[in-house]
This record gives sequence, C-alpha cells and structure tokens, in this order.
Amino acid sequence: MKFPKINFDNMKNEGTSSVTPQERRKFLKLGLAVAGVYAGGKILSLTSIVGTAHASGGSSIVKKYPYNPHYSMVIRQSLCIDCEKCVESCNKTNHVPEYGYRTRILTKKYSGTLDKQVEFIPVLCNHCNDAPCVRACPTRATFKDPITGIVRMESKKCIGCKTCILACPYDARYFSAERRAVDKCDFCWEERLSKGETQTGCSSACPTGARTFGNLTDPENIVYKLVHQLEEQVWVLRPADDTKPNIFYMKGNMRSVDNILNGQKFKYFDPDKV
Ligand code: SF4
Ligand code: SF4
Repeated sequence: MKFPKINFDNMKNEGTSSVTPQERRKFLKLGLAVAGVYAGGKILSLTSIVGTAHASGGSSIVKKYPYNPHYSMVIRQSLCIDCEKCVESCNKTNHVPEYGYRTRILTKKYSGTLDKQVEFIPVLCNHCNDAPCVRACPTRATFKDPITGIVRMESKKCIGCKTCILACPYDARYFSAERRAVDKCDFCWEERLSKGETQTGCSSACPTGARTFGNLTDPENIVYKLVHQLEEQVWVLRPADDTKPNIFYMKGNMRSVDNILNGQKFKYFDPDKV
C-alpha cells in the first residue's frame, strides 16, 4: 500500500490551550515522579471493563473508525509469557537505547489466588484518537497521522520540553539523548510499515501470538474480528481518561477466540444496538 506524503506545515494543532484544567493538574501532580510510577500501578489500578473498548466513536461499524488503515493492536493477555521477545525486537528495530523503551511488559501480582498468581500485561503507546500528548505539544513535533491514525514524532521539531511525557496517561514516552527528542512507539511506521511490511516488530516476534496487529477499519481483518467478537470481554486501559485508545485487551484463552483465528464464523457486535 502506498501512502501519500503528509504536509506537516498545514497540520493543525490545538496547542497547550486545549489541555484541560484536569490534565494540567495531573501534569503538576505527576511532576518528576512520572517515570518512576510506571510499574507501580499507575496504569494497572485503572484497568477498565468491557464496553469502553468501542471508544473510537461514530455511527456505523466500519465508519466508526476514522482512519484507513486504522492501525490497532489486540493484546491477548493470557498468552503473554513474559519472554520479552517483543521488547527485544522493538528495541532492535527502532534503535531504542538501553535506558529507553517503546513497549514494556508489566507484571500484575495477585495474592491469595490458587490458580494463577502472576499476569503479564504488554503495554505500549495507545495511539489515542484523542491524544493528550498531541494536544500538549507546543511545536507540533508529535502528531496524529491523518491517514493511519498512528501517533508519530517528527524529531527535528522536538525542543525537548517533555510536556508530552507529562501529558501521556500511559507513560508511553521517554526522552532519547541520541535523537535529542522524545521517542515513542510508532507501530514501527518508520522502520517497517512505511517500507511495505504489514506487521510491527513486536507482533511478528511474539512466539505465542499475544500481540495481534492489524486494521480496525476492515471487517475481514483479525483485529476487527477480535475486537468485535461477543464471547470474550475486550477492554482498554484507563477509559476514564477518554483518550480513545487503539490498543485493546482481552484474556484470549477461550475456544471462541481460537475459532476466530482459524477463520470460523462468529457474531458481529454492533455497538449502535447496545
Ligand atoms: S518534548 Fe517534543 S514532542 Fe514533547 S511536547 Fe516538547 S516539543 Fe513536543
Ligand atoms: S498513549 Fe500517550 S503517547 Fe500514545 S497517543 Fe496516547 S497520550 Fe500520546
């Protein structure tokens, strides 16, 4: 697939004035602690329930996803074994320095359960449809790709103020000394997708299929099918922030999901009828 060139100079940006008072308070509150709280529950404590997965908005099943291809990822949590092959692949593909990250595996521990005491949760940029980082960036160095919906960086425009790091509710960004800019997941746009590949480094490296990458606009695509199936709950992280994430989570250990993956029939979920 060929993608037209984006004219960055014509792109609109809301600037810092659109950052809500609530978000401003959050920036201040997080302050210097933002990098350190990642694994401590900032994300996990606010993990959502089903229903908010269909957060992209709109009226019909296909049209409710505004981009085409509307790149998204479904994480089937129970399949993650914490091997970190995805992280390794991501780091190598995107030249991520040792101190940086574009994706990580969180560990959630349970106490008092007999069957399973640890759960692994892959996390990355959610490529939010309503991205606080994009709204906060004063130089438009970070932007929502109007075609694919990927939240990308134009490094040379970054002045290193780190406002976007504080604005992101998912701690998905870090400052790269090598790039002299903030760096983050771009669904491997620069290194793979823009060169014709169809999978991200992490999804292609995952040995268990815990990460499924695809086009949420296409009802035939596996990502669409997984998000819209009825048998298993699908959720997004931090729905209360209303960022309209494009990373969807499900347990992924039921036979119905295997059936979908094997191309068998399933029922579509129509959010308009709920
Ligand atoms: S660090 Fe860069 S991307 Fe982030 S707000 Fe500042 S200029 Fe924008
Ligand atoms: S997860 Fe963070 S970095 Fe990614 S689009 Fe949302 S606010 Fe921006």
